[in-house]
Amino acid sequence: MEPVDLLIAGAGPTACVIAERAAAVLGWRSLIVEKRHHIGGNCFDEVHDSGLLLHRYGPHYFRTSSQALVTYLSRFTDWIDGHYLVRSLVRDRLYPFPINLNTLEAYFGRPFTATQARDHLESIREPFAEPENSEQLVMSLVGRALYEDFYLEYTKKQWGRHPRDLDASVCGRIPVRYNRDDRYTDAPFQKLPAAGYTAMFANMIDHPLISVRLGTDYSEIRRQVEPRQATVYTGPLDEYFDRSLGPLEWRSLDFEVREFDKEWVQPCVQVNYPDARDYTRTVELKHTTGQRNPRSVVIYEYPRADGEPYYPVPAASNRERYARYRDLADVETRHKRVYFCGRLAEYRYINSDTAMLNALDTFERIRRDRHVD
Ligand code: UDP
Repeated sequence: MEPVDLLIAGAGPTACVIAERAAAVLGWRSLIVEKRHHIGGNCFDEVHDSGLLLHRYGPHYFRTSSQALVTYLSRFTDWIDGHYLVRSLVRDRLYPFPINLNTLEAYFGRPFTATQARDHLESIREPFAEPENSEQLVMSLVGRALYEDFYLEYTKKQWGRHPRDLDASVCGRIPVRYNRDDRYTDAPFQKLPAAGYTAMFANMIDHPLISVRLGTDYSEIRRQVEPRQATVYTGPLDEYFDRSLGPLEWRSLDFEVREFDKEWVQPCVQVNYPDARDYTRTVELKHTTGQRNPRSVVIYEYPRADGEPYYPVPAASNRERYARYRDLADVETRHKRVYFCGRLAEYRYINSDTAMLNALDTFERIRRDRHVD
C-alpha cells in the first residue's frame, strides 16, 4: 500500500473538506476509509428510480452565514435556490412553521401587527430569564399553548425525551418571527448544490492525491496504515474508544420511502407532525430541487434509539461522559496525532456548514501542529 500523509475515517463533509485542503494546499496524500458504500455521510443524496433526487438520510437544507464557506464550496458546485418551506399539522390544520405572524394569525384567529403579536405573546408567555432547557425556552418565547401544540410531542418523538430534559439549544434552533418570513432558517445564504451534495463532495475529492475505500471500517485498517502526518477520525467518539467509558447516547432514524402516482403529495417540502403518530416529518424534496415529474416520492422519518447514530443528544445527563471521552481524545491527539472532527466525533448537534467550517479549522490546526507553511 502506498504511504499516505492523512488517514481519514469517514467520507462525510468533514472528511472531504480536510482531504481536499490537504491535497490542494500541501500536496498531501490522503486515504479516506468509509464503512458505507457511498461518500457524503448523512448529506448523501441519489437519484431514485423515479428520476427524483432524494436526500437518503433526511433533508439537508444547506444554509450558512459564512461567505467564505460559500466561496470555497462554489469551486465544486453551482447552486439552486433553496425554498425551504415547512408546515406543521396541528389538529388537522397546516400552519407555517417556524412560528411567524401568519402562524399566529391563523392560530389565534385574528390579525396581528408585529407589535400586537409581541404584546399578545408577552401576555401569555412564561418568562424564564435564562431558560435551562428546551421546555423553558419555548414557553418563554411563545407560552404554553403553542409549546404544547407545536413542540412538545414532536420533541418527545424525535428525542425519546421530554423537552425539559434537553438543552435549550435544541428547540432554540427554531426561530420565532414577528414578520411573515416563512423560510425554515434565518441564514443569509440558503441554497442547495445544483447537482446534489454527493456530486459536490465527489468533485471535492476528485484529486490524484485522494483515494477512497468504501465498505471499509476504520477498525479494520487502523493497525495496517501508519499515516505520515495525522489521522482524522470523524466517526462516533465512543466507538473510537470501544465504548470503554460506556456508550454515549445517540438518536437514530428510520426512513420510509413512499412513491406516489401523482405530481404533488404535500404543499411544501416538509410537513411536521407534532402529535402522537410515530413519524415526525414527511419530506417531498422536489419542492426544493425544482424537478418536474408526474410522480412523486415522500420520505417518512421515524425516530429511534438504536441504529446508526445520527444525532448526539444535547442534555446535561450526557455531558459528563462526553467530557471524559473528550479528555481521552485530547491525549490521543497529543500522543498519536489523531484529530477528532465532525458531528459524531465532537458529539455536537451542528449543521453541515458548521461541520465544514470546523473541518477547515482542523485542517489549519493539523498544519500548524505539523509545522507546515
Ligand atoms: N421541533 C419541534 N417541532 C417542530 C420542529 C422542530 O418541536 O415542528 C424541535 C425538535 O426538538 C427538533 C428541534 O426543534 O429536534 C430542531 O428541529 P430541526 O428541524 O432543526 O431538526 P433537524 O432538521 O436537525 O432534525
